[in-house]
Amino acid sequence: MDRRTLLKVLAAGGLAARGALASGAGSAKDMKDIKALQDHWKDFLPAGAQLPSPGEPLQLSKDEWKKRLPPESYRVLREEATERAGTSPLNDEKRAGVFVCRGCDLPVFTSDMKFDSGTGWPSFFTTIPGVFEMKKDYFLIYPRTEYHCIRCGGHHGHVFDDGPAPTNQRWCNNGVSLKFLPKA
Ligand SMILES: [Zn+2]
Repeated sequence: MDRRTLLKVLAAGGLAARGALASGAGSAKDMKDIKALQDHWKDFLPAGAQLPSPGEPLQLSKDEWKKRLPPESYRVLREEATERAGTSPLNDEKRAGVFVCRGCDLPVFTSDMKFDSGTGWPSFFTTIPGVFEMKKDYFLIYPRTEYHCIRCGGHHGHVFDDGPAPTNQRWCNNGVSLKFLPKA
């Protein structure tokens, strides 16, 4: 699926389909849109890449996570810290490819879901379906919706409703929570 088709699927029912996915009750058309969205990211994989699926949970002890992750990734993924704006090399990443969770390699975004938000954090207008779970936090007094990797529980960022059409979503992601795999 190319970017234009992705946008069309999202505009034409992909969003409803995602609601249906969350509630477990979808029409045949919803299910077709879900399937298209779920398979979309596979077009962005480097040849031969073997990546895990959301259905394979990864649970490690605190010490194991510390060994596995660079300190700045550990602080964000496991302690919900936020990296300083403008510090991630991924802000300028424009190649085709897939963004995977730095903690567990689960594919979470494709390059065509990315947009330049001007915030200093890598930003996306949608995600690969079914890869994040949401949690409200009140860290800044008003509620923000925080999202975590469904496979390893790692903290990635917050989602806001001031993103571009057709989703109007802005998934504001810490760069240190991601790893980019260029397609070629
Ligand atoms: Zn993960």
